[in-house]
Amino acid sequence: MSTQEPLQIEQVVVYHVRLEMRAPFVTAWGAQRERDLILVEAAASGSDGQLIGWGEAPVLAQPAYNEETVATAWHILNDFLVPLVLRTPIMDPRTVHEHFAVFHGHSMAKAALEGAVWDLWAKRAGLSLRELLGGTSLRVPAGAVVGIQEDTAALLRQVEAKLARGYRRIKLKVHPGRDAAVVKAVRDAFGDIPLAVDANGAYRVEDLPVLQALDRFGLEMIEQPLPWDDLLGHARVQAELTTPICLDETVATPGHARQALALGSGRVINIKPGRLGGLGPALAVHDLCRAAGAPVWCGGLLETGVGRAHNVALATLPGFTWPGDLAPPGEYLVEDIVEPPLVLDREGYVPVPQGPGIGVTVRRDRLEALTVRRHVHRAGP
Ligand code: MG
Repeated sequence: MSTQEPLQIEQVVVYHVRLEMRAPFVTAWGAQRERDLILVEAAASGSDGQLIGWGEAPVLAQPAYNEETVATAWHILNDFLVPLVLRTPIMDPRTVHEHFAVFHGHSMAKAALEGAVWDLWAKRAGLSLRELLGGTSLRVPAGAVVGIQEDTAALLRQVEAKLARGYRRIKLKVHPGRDAAVVKAVRDAFGDIPLAVDANGAYRVEDLPVLQALDRFGLEMIEQPLPWDDLLGHARVQAELTTPICLDETVATPGHARQALALGSGRVINIKPGRLGGLGPALAVHDLCRAAGAPVWCGGLLETGVGRAHNVALATLPGFTWPGDLAPPGEYLVEDIVEPPLVLDREGYVPVPQGPGIGVTVRRDRLEALTVRRHVHRAGP
């Protein structure tokens, strides 16, 4: 079947799944022990039978990273996005987010269904998602994230373990009171390793002296120091710092990326399809940053192998010049839901799955065991 032919989605199943974390992941917002999120399975007819595409809404337990939760994604997908897709022939996966633009916000819900359409489109065309997106790398560099730990000794053990695994960069979560001293301890113990911090918006412009203290440690970046909506504050702080500011939560749309680059609110952007509403908007931010000479890297939201396979394919594009938060899900989930599992090679790279679409398959036995609830939608009169 030609890739030019419209794609008609015939069935969509929305799953709420619950996976077990290896260890509680602690950020400025609290600890997370179970990973509840939404998976979307979209089906369409191909020339050789039915094709299945998968997407993921990497919603977190609280509406703290963005406004979404499992309950909101469930509502928005089942009541708005899925019905819209079932009555809309898709001419190009790049345009799905334009159909969704009639609904405000809810980027992770949109990304889940949009991602399933991309996976389906690639499979129908007999391409890997990497090939469909135009990516070139066959493996992508991965950085590690170390959450806030009980004490410095625990933190240093974590960093040592991540370095031993080969990760290409270590990112420490910081918040007021656990910042410069933490970075100093890591620098003292491990020297000139590639090191970054992520504050998830925990500081204010008035905290500039704290950020200037962090500026002395030769960090690769200070990620999201200020609240998500403070574009001007980030520009003021960036002007006082040598270390590049990387924007994460701030960039919820390609328009935000354009404004941030114009204002000098940061010099690097963390791209997450879940935060941006899918791969289409993620490609737009990638292209904007590339034109502006700003590096990008792919962030993570503790995805299963479904979401992470989408991210790995995206990170093969040429603008993704920095290591991404692309650790294989087996590093933080007791057991992932896909096969073959994503892995980390000895040099800290994740090999890109080469099969059709996202290149990994959802295990039905795992899906059955992990499903909390499901909603089946069929196209038709
Ligand atoms: Mg971040």
